[in-house]
Amino acid sequence: MTECKECKRIKVGRDYEDADEGALERAIVGALHIKDCKLYLVSFDRGRNIALVKFDCDLGGQHGTFEKEIRVRFAKSLCMKCYRQKSGYYEAIIQIRGQKERVESFMSKIYRYNSRRGGFVSKMEENGDGYDVYFGDKKIIGEFFEKNKRYRTKQSYELYGIKKGKKVYRTIYFLRLE
Ligand SMILES: [Zn+2]
Repeated sequence: MTECKECKRIKVGRDYEDADEGALERAIVGALHIKDCKLYLVSFDRGRNIALVKFDCDLGGQHGTFEKEIRVRFAKSLCMKCYRQKSGYYEAIIQIRGQKERVESFMSKIYRYNSRRGGFVSKMEENGDGYDVYFGDKKIIGEFFEKNKRYRTKQSYELYGIKKGKKVYRTIYFLRLE
């Protein structure tokens, strides 16, 4: 089983998911593949990394079930999100300036919105009467301003590369709160 060493999510198929019971079952069962058997995760001992797996098998017309303890090995990895965060990747910058309390309240709002949607912040710098905040996913930030139209931003774009033949831009938002 592959686990992200930063956020502790586990790899299920191609994506990383929070390591709840459902995800653990899908990851363990997915790694075992036993012909003619259905597998279920009965329990998982996180301290010893032992999974109790129930096998429900049809072998030559004979049906049988049994349970077996399986030791799960965790390979440490870094998921794409944590990799990008660590390497300082960003797609959008918000340059927020203005009156201290309003800036602080805006900051906690956008941080909450961003992290609830699985986004991350790569960098934050104090700058004059505000901050420059670097966000990993510009879609989330675009959505936020779409939903909160009372924040009137000035936008500009910065070309940062070409992906599949298309130019890719970072979005820079400037916001002043007086
Ligand atoms: Zn991660």
